[in-house]
Amino acid sequence: SAHSNTYDYSFKILLIGDSGVGKSSLLISFISNSTEDLAPTIGVDFKIKQLTTGGKRLKLTIWDTAGQERFRTLTSSYYRSAQGIILVYDVTRRETFTNLSDVWAKEIELYSTNKECIKMLVGNKVDKESERAVTKEEGMALAQEYGCLFLECSVKTSENVGKCFEEIALKIMEVP
Ligand code: GDP
Repeated sequence: SAHSNTYDYSFKILLIGDSGVGKSSLLISFISNSTEDLAPTIGVDFKIKQLTTGGKRLKLTIWDTAGQERFRTLTSSYYRSAQGIILVYDVTRRETFTNLSDVWAKEIELYSTNKECIKMLVGNKVDKESERAVTKEEGMALAQEYGCLFLECSVKTSENVGKCFEEIALKIMEVP
């Protein structure tokens, strides 16, 4: 319609975390509402999604690392002016969880200049319950320590995929 480009809020949200945790899958699944293609994805730069939540029309520009995280070359330009950061780990690979403290939180500290930035911890791949290496309680405890929102999800089953983005967007809207 003629109004399809109007929105109440526009937010920049980043996805970060180790390679292979499912960042690109999460983004593509959210954008396309599909789980068809669960092959490894070459990182995209960013995608735009318009949605209505909390009675407001939102435009979310969601940035993926485009595989740069493998070389630890994310710099201040990636973090600039982000209102939200989603930190993703794989519940079946414990090192992806410990790296959130050892690597990613330090990088946010160093590069994210927006002190009002809302953070969310997301444990992905809960469909692989038998291979789980990080408990939900551990995830919740780390989120509490860093003052983050927290969710577990599965791109494979679509569980909580939309909720990850909606919850962080709702929280960003509360920032004065
Ligand atoms: P990225 O490097 O963090 O962007 O990770 P990718 O999105 O490329 O995903 C890495 C691998 O994990 C791919 O083979 C995906 O198909 C797979 N994957 C992503 N999400 C899930 C999930 O929820 N469950 C399972 N079982 N596999 C997943």
